[in-house]
Amino acid sequence: MVTGTTSCPETIEAAAKAKADGAILYAGGTDVMLRYAQAIRTGQTVPFVFLNVVNGLKDVVVGGSKTRIGAMITMSKITRHPDIPDLLRQACGVVGSPALRNVATLGGNICTASPAGDSLPALCVLEALVELRSPTKTRIVPIDKFISGPKETVLAPDELLVAVIIPDNNLKCFYHRKVSSRTANAITKVSIAAATTIEDGIIKDIRLAFGAVGPTVIRCTSLEQELKGISADKLPKTMPHWKHQVAKLIEPIDDLRSTAQYRCIIASNLFEEIVNAINKRVPEHSGLI
Ligand SMILES: Cc1cc2nc3c(=O)[nH]c(=O)nc-3n(C[C@H](O)[C@H](O)[C@H](O)COP(=O)(O)OP(=O)(O)OC[C@H]3O[C@@H](n4cnc5c(N)ncnc54)[C@H](O)[C@@H]3O)c2cc1C
Repeated sequence: MVTGTTSCPETIEAAAKAKADGAILYAGGTDVMLRYAQAIRTGQTVPFVFLNVVNGLKDVVVGGSKTRIGAMITMSKITRHPDIPDLLRQACGVVGSPALRNVATLGGNICTASPAGDSLPALCVLEALVELRSPTKTRIVPIDKFISGPKETVLAPDELLVAVIIPDNNLKCFYHRKVSSRTANAITKVSIAAATTIEDGIIKDIRLAFGAVGPTVIRCTSLEQELKGISADKLPKTMPHWKHQVAKLIEPIDDLRSTAQYRCIIASNLFEEIVNAINKRVPEHSGLI
């Protein structure tokens, strides 16, 4: 049962206006329900805006060199959608349990802005943009500029995240791995998303991002630059150097789920795993490595 001033608007503008008036957006509710339960315990009234019937938030549209994914698409739908990039489908497929994925949305995962949010490293590697809408204007922001800190975003009080835009790219191989205490329903301790293009055994393009080892997702742009132009089969011989570089880039902490030291070891091992996977599939492969 939900108490308080709740509404189920049909337009983005009405939802944005209700948010500006102080209501909390409710997408799948898997994160926000915890806040709701706490409010009930302390006798507060929670004004919610349910996004479920807002028009235009559940479409996937391909065209104009991009894929536009509505914010209210659930994790389950993403994993099954043929037009959504493999890397994102793989990352969303490891969020919680199957039941949770049936209601949890991509927009909710992004707006929660957890450093352990499972869609985020993949979105970072895909250089996704988010479309934000207020009653009066629309703006497009790169995903790494949208999340400004742990659980912090640049969303204005009257703005909704309405869609995620993934520009087309020429990346050929994708890789995603989540390390957690068990396969289902466990929050990430460390994760990695990567995409590469190898031509004639040479790394032409590579993108790498780590989750849960910093205040936000960490994209490794300096390491990516160093790796470009290198012969993929020579990488294993210089692995200690690359692992050291990874350890320098990440900023893990000790928390309930893990220690900083463990996270550091796992992150550099995941990097090694990627190099091994790349080498098994050289020269060209489309899809997941
Ligand atoms: C048991 C359990 C296991 C979980 N496991 C994982 C896991 O493995 N990996 C993982 O990444 N997460 C996990 N989560 C967290 C959560 O399920 C995800 O972050 C989920 O994607 C949130 O989506 P939602 O639609 O339920 O968001 P909601 O709970 O509805 O909303 C989350 C936040 O985003 C805001 N919001 C939602 N939609 C919009 C929008 N369109 N515009 C602006 N603001 C918006 C809400 O106001 C709220 O602050 C888990 C949660 C639970 C309870």
